[in-house]
Amino acid sequence: MTTRNMEDYLEAIWNLQSRKGYIKVKDIADKLEVTRPSVSEMIKKLAENNYILYEKYGGIVFTDKGKKLAREIKRRHSLLVEFLKIIGVSEENADQDACKLEHDVSPETINCLLEFIEFVHLLPDNSKWAENFQKYLKKKDML
Ligand code: MN
Repeated sequence: MTTRNMEDYLEAIWNLQSRKGYIKVKDIADKLEVTRPSVSEMIKKLAENNYILYEKYGGIVFTDKGKKLAREIKRRHSLLVEFLKIIGVSEENADQDACKLEHDVSPETINCLLEFIEFVHLLPDNSKWAENFQKYLKKKDML
């Protein structure tokens, strides 16, 4: 069983909350494939660090600090998914692998990937390089 860090939890809680509007320990445990006691422990830690407010038998609410970090994590995630899709990774794998990349590679690599995607956003629409790369990938299949 993998240990998950605070950012994984914040991301999972954020996603569950936006999808369902409320959060149960069980849902977080299922999503992250960890035990319920691990979830409870991390919830305590997140509350101690002022990312969330938590009341036993009550709900989980993000603090401003928690919201800010969760949004940053989501932004990073979307940019990484975009990068992976540009280089030809399927939607499903891109989403899963983005989460792995987020935390398992050095901050330097993450920053370089983010800079790359931000650069791509600055390119004029008519440069078509991403489209050309997709064509190149397809052509290689046919060789
Ligand atoms: Mn992620």
